[in-house]
Amino acid sequence: MFDRKMLTKLGGWTGYRVVDVDYRPGEGWGGRGKVIIRLEPTRKRMRCNRCGSTSTQVHDTAIRRIRDLPMFDWDVVLIVPRRRQWCERCGGPQLEDLEWVRPYRRVTRRLEEAVGRLCQMMPLKQVAAFYGLAWHTVKAIDKQMLERTVGTVDLTGVRYLGMDEFALHKGHRYATVIVEPLRREVLWVGAGHSREAVRPFFAALSEQVRRNIRAVVMDMNAAYDLEVRAWCPNAEVVYDLFHVVAKYGREVMDRVRVDEANRLRQDKRARQVVKSSRWLLLRNRENLKTSEQQVRLDELLAANESLMTVYVLKEDLKELWRTREETEARSRWEAWYRRAMESGIEPLMRFARRLKPYLSGILAHCRHPLHTSVLEGINNRIKVIKRMAYGFRDEAYFFLKIRAAFPGNLR
Ligand SMILES: [Zn+2]
Repeated sequence: MFDRKMLTKLGGWTGYRVVDVDYRPGEGWGGRGKVIIRLEPTRKRMRCNRCGSTSTQVHDTAIRRIRDLPMFDWDVVLIVPRRRQWCERCGGPQLEDLEWVRPYRRVTRRLEEAVGRLCQMMPLKQVAAFYGLAWHTVKAIDKQMLERTVGTVDLTGVRYLGMDEFALHKGHRYATVIVEPLRREVLWVGAGHSREAVRPFFAALSEQVRRNIRAVVMDMNAAYDLEVRAWCPNAEVVYDLFHVVAKYGREVMDRVRVDEANRLRQDKRARQVVKSSRWLLLRNRENLKTSEQQVRLDELLAANESLMTVYVLKEDLKELWRTREETEARSRWEAWYRRAMESGIEPLMRFARRLKPYLSGILAHCRHPLHTSVLEGINNRIKVIKRMAYGFRDEAYFFLKIRAAFPGNLR
């Protein structure tokens, strides 16, 4: 099919030429063909991969099988005599430096790069099948690429932080992510969600950086606020809308919906309507796609006074965060609290009473340009990353994936 000269040129294996091509139909991954390309070194002078000095003295040669990018419908396996030179400067045998494959790797650089790019978009398993590589090989490539590309973070100029927790394995263990919310950059990821767990992040900051922090946005139920106050003397704690609304959904909407369904025990049809309305009630009205869903929601609310009340108060609660003027936000809060307490709906009153002590942290958002959607966005993205790979028993790898997903938009 290809002559050897043409394939040598096309392959770009600098310092080698093709001496033999062996086509094996059906022997590749998933019934594809496999082509085995035998290479031979052409350069007399080798460069030491450790110190860069050159030599012509071959110490030994080992035959390596190295995978390359697939060629059309063929998996490509290179048979490469890998030489070690005797390096005077290093005082021993050293591997020859090659442009197209890193030392001791079984895949070429370009295959590594292709795998790394695909791993940003697809689960490991699919990337493995796409290139006909073993799952653990793909994972190792992706992890090494991330270690190289996800660099150290620059914390100078950081004024704001966002902190959030997420579940590691089915909710058994937790981890914490710390972000710069304005440029959407993940600064740190660590196991645990206690005060002690996040301490290493703050301990590593210089005093100047800690003094510069003006506000930290977080869930009001998190344990982080005391740690923030201990390290960042000028920081205000700001409670995040997304978490408060999520809590409202669980503690108020779900509770009232279940109570209403139980109350309608006699009316099977109405009961079923209320029972199955969870999604409808928790969704933002703007996100209801069809007019049929809108009508269903309207009918549901019209028929249930309690559901109507908690639904309207949910929408009004969100308005607290949309108001940037503090006096106005405060009077909105007072009106909201009064309506909650006068509703006679027990779960709602309980929620309002519990929320009250956090008021200053809720109103604090008026003084800072913090978008409350940042933590929600990161939270959702972490879930997607978690679904995409099953390699996250390896925490270090999982944390690298999270950092790579939020490199910051100012770079
Ligand atoms: Zn050397």
